[in-house]
Amino acid sequence: MIQDIQPKCYHNEYIPRPIREGDVVFVFRGREVLLREENDCLTFPGDMEVQEKELQYLFSIDDRAFYLGREEVPGYTFQPMRLLRRCTPQDLCFAGMTAWHLYNWYAGHRFCGRCGKPLHHHENLRALACDCGNLVFPVIAPAVIVAVTNGDKLLVTRYAGREFKGLALIAGFCEIGERAEDTVRREVMEEAGLRVKNLRYFDSQPWGYASNLLLGYFCELEGSDEIHFDQEELSSAVWVSREELEPVEENLLSLTGTMIETFRLGKE
Ligand SMILES: [Zn+2]
Repeated sequence: MIQDIQPKCYHNEYIPRPIREGDVVFVFRGREVLLREENDCLTFPGDMEVQEKELQYLFSIDDRAFYLGREEVPGYTFQPMRLLRRCTPQDLCFAGMTAWHLYNWYAGHRFCGRCGKPLHHHENLRALACDCGNLVFPVIAPAVIVAVTNGDKLLVTRYAGREFKGLALIAGFCEIGERAEDTVRREVMEEAGLRVKNLRYFDSQPWGYASNLLLGYFCELEGSDEIHFDQEELSSAVWVSREELEPVEENLLSLTGTMIETFRLGKE
């Protein structure tokens, strides 16, 4: 999956250092990222090209540090975020998505929500601080991905009105005061009108495109298999047998793709 960058190591401790050779600067605008595409290879601005004095340190992967910039850099153009999926090595894709998560958090937290004064960065924590004492930590939204099985069939969905047209699974945000397992039951009922049992936790995935931490669950159908799907959220929801599922190749970056493939191979 996208976060599996071993043997490289992601360091998210907040220990800023000045930019140096080999480091990477991400500049975002809307849902675009500043990059250069040459011979199918994506590159991002580095230490020699960025004139900006106040880069925001983000994190490191091994010895390479990543920063957030604000200014355009000659020779680079803004391109859709989805191009990040084509980055090689894969840790660059993970870095871009995680940088995007942090970018959105920084951009949305410039002022204190309690007293309205500008926030400043905490010296040694990933947090924004206010003179009034308020401390603001990164926002991560937990959400569930649910593979509902019925014997050798899997409930697969397609989203309504989204750019992504591929196969999906039931998914939804955890509400305040709710256990992840209750989110699973609620979302399956809301989106497909089905009841489930025997919930089994599968794996998790940080998904910075939507500021999520995704929690994957397998569960079994309980009672009627008649689907009544939510037509605002989904364009379709159907039972598909193992044999009918196509191998998932491109989408193994995602938890959803990994779960569908796990089912197809008979491992769940
Ligand atoms: Zn304040």
